[in-house]
Amino acid sequence: MIRVLFSARPDRWDEYEAPLRRAFAAEGLDVDLATSHPPETVDYIVFAPNGPVTDFTPYTACKGVLGLWAGVETVVGNPTLTQPLARMVDTGLTEGMVQWVAGHVLRHLLNLDADIKGQDGRWTPRLPPLARERQVGILGLGALGAASGQALAGLGFPVAGWSRREKAVPGITCHHGAEGLSEVLSTSHFLVLLLPQTPATENLLDAERIALLPEGAVILNPGRGPLIDDAALLAALDSGHLAHATLDVFRTEPLPPDHPFWAHPKVTVTPHIASETRSDTAAQTIAANIARSEAGQPLLHLVDRAAGY
Ligand code: NDP
Repeated sequence: MIRVLFSARPDRWDEYEAPLRRAFAAEGLDVDLATSHPPETVDYIVFAPNGPVTDFTPYTACKGVLGLWAGVETVVGNPTLTQPLARMVDTGLTEGMVQWVAGHVLRHLLNLDADIKGQDGRWTPRLPPLARERQVGILGLGALGAASGQALAGLGFPVAGWSRREKAVPGITCHHGAEGLSEVLSTSHFLVLLLPQTPATENLLDAERIALLPEGAVILNPGRGPLIDDAALLAALDSGHLAHATLDVFRTEPLPPDHPFWAHPKVTVTPHIASETRSDTAAQTIAANIARSEAGQPLLHLVDRAAGY
């Protein structure tokens, strides 16, 4: 019998209980799944940072903490967490992010706002550019960045990507290092941020780097709020250097009502809904990972504590 503790926001239990039970059965795992177990008997914790477990010390037999979130910035530094930590990589989460990124890039490419708001009875045809005439830069070529970049490449956009380590992703011109970042920034009309929040990525998009973007560029941030220096972003929008910023994540969430982003004509705010872990597919990922661990293999999607993601 494997004891699995579900530690997430209480309302998530109703959403996850049945998919997790189905997924454990499909993997042939005999699991005692509950929202409470004596800590020393727990084998695995299904974990969200806004759930009840904050001190991992009593979970002395725990073989793995399986995160429900892709972002781990609020747990990776927890000194009591000595167990292996796996972050969420979920097909449903990835598909959702691809849709959000593609939808918002196409909105700007096609200038859909002008069509939607400009229906004033005047017949004014406009010819939008083609995707192949506008490069997209993707900062972060992980599960979400690579899939989003490849989807955009499939629509005809030239796509350049940037990651910490050198990598090869079919359909994407890959860069790394400081020079690689400058190259991506200086050539990308649309810039998508899909980096994790770590000490190395905080304020990555400061005034100097924003200035490298071509005149009229558009920034889309579904990654994390602290990746961007807010004041530098507002200054670049006000000066006309940037045409627009579409932001899903913020330093403070919910975004405070008096924050200048809300009223800014060149900013679109979405309320951290770019993508969400989907219970059915996420449950399968978790069950498959526990099955691996029980078979003596290392967990997939392990977080690198030193790198912070
Ligand atoms: P991954 O860990 O799979 O990918 C992260 C990518 O960022 C990797 O390519 C990594 O490089 C790169 N990276 C990390 N640090 C640096 C650095 N210092 N310099 C250059 N590149 C770096 O994460 P995911 O793709 O799954 O998710 C990305 C982020 O998206 C999450 O951390 C989360 O913050 C955000 N997110 C937002 C959601 C929303 O609804 N808005 C939903 C889900 C996630 P390398 O390949 O070399 O490791």
